[in-house]
Amino acid sequence: MNKNIRVIICIFVVIFTMMGLYFCNYLLFKKDDYISSAHNKRLSSYSEHVVRGSILSSDGEKLAETVVDEFGEEKRIYPYNNLFAHSVGHVEKGYTGIEALGNFYMVSSHESIFKKIADDVSGKKRTGDNIVTTLNVRLQQAAYDALGDYRGACVVLEPDTGRILAMVSKPDFNPNTIEQDWEAINSIQGNDCLLNKATRGVYAPGSTFKVMTTLEYLREHPDNYQSYLYNCTGENNIMQDYSVHCYGGLVHGVLDLEHSLAQSCNCSFSNIGISLNKERFSGLCSDFLFNKTIPGSYGCVKSQFVLSADDSDAVTAQTAIGQGKTTISPMHNALIAATIANGGVMMTPYVIDRVENYKGKTVVDFEPKMYDKLMSADEAACIKDMMKLVVSEGTGARLISESYQAAAKTGSAQFSSDVDDTHAWILAFAPADAPKIAISVIVERGGSGGETAAPIAKRILDVYFDETSD
Ligand SMILES: [Zn+2]
Repeated sequence: MNKNIRVIICIFVVIFTMMGLYFCNYLLFKKDDYISSAHNKRLSSYSEHVVRGSILSSDGEKLAETVVDEFGEEKRIYPYNNLFAHSVGHVEKGYTGIEALGNFYMVSSHESIFKKIADDVSGKKRTGDNIVTTLNVRLQQAAYDALGDYRGACVVLEPDTGRILAMVSKPDFNPNTIEQDWEAINSIQGNDCLLNKATRGVYAPGSTFKVMTTLEYLREHPDNYQSYLYNCTGENNIMQDYSVHCYGGLVHGVLDLEHSLAQSCNCSFSNIGISLNKERFSGLCSDFLFNKTIPGSYGCVKSQFVLSADDSDAVTAQTAIGQGKTTISPMHNALIAATIANGGVMMTPYVIDRVENYKGKTVVDFEPKMYDKLMSADEAACIKDMMKLVVSEGTGARLISESYQAAAKTGSAQFSSDVDDTHAWILAFAPADAPKIAISVIVERGGSGGETAAPIAKRILDVYFDETSD
């Protein structure tokens, strides 16, 4: 008898503990996801009583709004057509982008009690709250135009807050006509126009990853990294049947650490790579969010970094120059640039600045959030100085400007054995000594990062500094 009671008590304790854990998990981590989910039935019932609110840019331009015609039919309109396709998203074919992230707020209404009564009496729907984003129309347009007909993505962040100022993915679509275009979009095999490559694109980081390799080298040689020297002959024979070559068949000659980065010398970085402690290098990449969920709620794909103690020198050399098995999203790479720009502090990226009621009164305000301090101020300053050299003497020369000083790292990431199959990357921030803006650009099959991606970043920086110099 006693035994049975004990068993029953145990079962109840287990059940209550599991229920407790479930509710804690819900309250702490999942609540916003469930509430905002387009599958939440309560939200659908809200939308029967509320006209969905608008999505606005940081300067008050309407990026999405619901218009109601004389018959009471509602239609979601996107005044900028393709320009904000992925960042703002759509509602017709499932909720994406900010339409998904901010769903809960836009079908909630903070009308005054008098207006609520008046609306209820007249049988009118209530007016939903509006979302004011961190997105800037001019920067978004600049990034969109600069990418032009290339396939790829671009992310622009404010380093000291994590505000997402612009986010573009190409090819794109028109959210106004997605219903009509749906069949055509899906009939083309391999059509990736619906994919937000800024957050969901998976690419080899190429030479942009050399900032991570450099940081690990700094950590392992805090007192003597300045005496590093390497003689590049254009080829580094790592082991039998495996050599690393410098991009474009270049021979760089004798380089110190900072000029190895400025010239993006593969031979020198493969040499550095095989000298590193693999376990510590993996730990550093883990701290920088490789193999982890990117904070913020844009649904970023996980980046990958794999390096184990028994990997060969060939694998280690490839990994050190951003090839091998390492992958990264443009958002994550922008976050790394922003962290260096922000003195080593990574801020959580965010796109919803605040929620306002129909009269413009703020009802929810989102503050910048620090993710973590990942580098010392000295380490960040050291990498930043090397990235300044990338622009003044190295592969990022296309970013030289009279009105601002940029810091950058280019990348040309080979994604198949064919040398011509190369994605062009750039990470950049400016002004180098007091950064206001950090950018990552990837151009699929763009070839050299310095040739193709750098001019795109330059156009965005030019627009930004033109605007703020007025
Ligand atoms: Zn070289």
